[in-house]
Amino acid sequence: MSYADFHRRSITDRDAFWAEQATLIDWHRPFTQVCDYSNPPFAKWFVGGQTNLCHNAVDRHVATRGAQNALIWVSTEVDKEVVYSFAELHAEVQRTAAMLLELGVKAGDRVLIYMPMIPEAVFAMLACTRIGALHSVVFGGFASVSLASRIDDAEPTVIVSADAGSRGGKVVAYKPLLDEAIRLAKHKPAKVLLVDRGLSPMERVAGRDVDYAPLRDRHMAAQVPCTWVESTHPSYTLYTSGTTGKPKGVQRDTGGYAVALAASMKHIFLGAPGETYFSTSDIGWVVGHSYIVYGPLIAGMATILYEGLPIRPDAGIWWSLVEKYKVTSMFSAPTAVRVLKKQDPAYLQKYDLSSLKALFLAGEPLDEPTAKWIAEAIGRPIVDNYWQTETGWPILTICNGVEPAPSKFGSPGKPVYGYDVKLIDENTGQELTGANQKGVVAIEGPLPPGCMQTVWRDDARFVNTYWKSIPGRLVYSTFDWGIRDEDGYFFILGRTDDVINVAGHRLGTREIEESISSHPAVAEVAVVGVADPLKGQVAMAFAVLKDPSKAATPADALKLEGEIMKTVDEQLGAVARPARVRFVTVLPKTRSGKLLRRAIQAVCEGRDPGDLTTIEDPSALQQVKDLIAQR
Ligand code: AMP
Repeated sequence: MSYADFHRRSITDRDAFWAEQATLIDWHRPFTQVCDYSNPPFAKWFVGGQTNLCHNAVDRHVATRGAQNALIWVSTEVDKEVVYSFAELHAEVQRTAAMLLELGVKAGDRVLIYMPMIPEAVFAMLACTRIGALHSVVFGGFASVSLASRIDDAEPTVIVSADAGSRGGKVVAYKPLLDEAIRLAKHKPAKVLLVDRGLSPMERVAGRDVDYAPLRDRHMAAQVPCTWVESTHPSYTLYTSGTTGKPKGVQRDTGGYAVALAASMKHIFLGAPGETYFSTSDIGWVVGHSYIVYGPLIAGMATILYEGLPIRPDAGIWWSLVEKYKVTSMFSAPTAVRVLKKQDPAYLQKYDLSSLKALFLAGEPLDEPTAKWIAEAIGRPIVDNYWQTETGWPILTICNGVEPAPSKFGSPGKPVYGYDVKLIDENTGQELTGANQKGVVAIEGPLPPGCMQTVWRDDARFVNTYWKSIPGRLVYSTFDWGIRDEDGYFFILGRTDDVINVAGHRLGTREIEESISSHPAVAEVAVVGVADPLKGQVAMAFAVLKDPSKAATPADALKLEGEIMKTVDEQLGAVARPARVRFVTVLPKTRSGKLLRRAIQAVCEGRDPGDLTTIEDPSALQQVKDLIAQR
């Protein structure tokens, strides 16, 4: 079948299409309805069916491939490599499940996972879905204030964490950040389960903190059966940034997610049982959930969990793993490739990469020079794919597993099956049907299986944030600009909201502004994303001080800038630290008091700031221009 027919059928004969895909997973009880869209925009997939994510990822493979590799942990930070077969993974996950049960976790409870890239993090995720509890993984790079807001929203019964992570050989202590976060949060978890890696001393809170190793010892022979849950039972929440300062808990179901991932492994990621998948992301991000943990395991593949940098001990490390474990599909981000690009390509070419069917890249725009460089350096096909935390799996790509097709530089490809992608005119709200017209990328409801069900405990926010009516229909907004060329290929042109993308990490400028504003010297601040050759974008802050004399000399300004960056590091984490904090006496605003972020951004990028007729004080933008000129 041609890809065009495959896609068309997924939309026009939706239920039959997805009923076929649903055979890729195990069901404990068959579903009675494929899609219930009687209450738009809420879609229920595989209604009446019962299944379990952990069963599909682990248990069902034990009989047929129990001795085969399932989880391959490689840490160049602590120089360790541990391989777990499906049978071993099955045993470990049951131990962790027994531990969580002992700590009081019940089906429907939340377990917050704040962990470095270690196997216990994967065991904890799978243990949660095994017993019907929801995990809420928080990226280890986030600090206490970010973590506290997520603790308060998820209200976890138990938090699973560790003494420390390590980055570039430097120990990053987690426990003090976690203790501070719990102190800041209104909600207090009953128990904190701690993996002691021996990297950083930990103080235990009596009655609350429990050590992982001794508890595991007591559950070595644990047998914890999977809890069969409704297909619509939430499997996890994952926080992501939007326009407001408060992160949104993206809530995912069970059956729809399992089917969507199983289908994507086949049609997009060219995966087959017994093969090896390597995603270089972090479990704290959606790519880690879908394509380090669940997708590959559901497909019966081994998955590599890598703790470390792409260039340490040298730039050959990832590629040596491809050779050693005969990786067939690899998934990374353009930023990582741009880091490698600064190294000698000989490091990549030293290894036999012939097992690799393709390198998949996502998370941020893939620029042409980066795509060309990596394609040449590794001599394997490169496949861009565009999606979001909200969707959980690709919206746009080339589905080479259905019908191989050429890629176009700068384009992630065409709409993936299941997604009825539209471009909407920002001003009229009408659908744009012609070629090469710029609009907001939108998806007509229902969203396909695997996408977000709602915002955790906030249906109204889900509806109001994402859904717009176009005549007679409801569409989901991605908050990305895009165009479609005459051949149907899409090009993504950046966010329509205040979200920025730093090295593939999605950050809300409002969150960074709130953190900077908490510094006692700061009266007001604007944060914008500015194009950066390595990270794609960086955050740039312009602050007005309560007392401008605090930054009177360049030395004072530099000192204060350092202090403000430290505040952001401590509250949100170094990932959110702005590249620069510059001081101005007034911020560019409209007469009605709205910050002119797009104008600030344009000036920072050396572009024309556009229509400025509504600006309150033109000298404000001039100050930004002068500061940029000084660089
Ligand atoms: P996240 O939710 O962290 O995955 O970030 C999603 C956002 O990253 C999207 O809304 C896009 O702005 C951007 N993005 C992800 N993948 C791509 C891609 N392949 N090309 C361009 N932008 C992308």
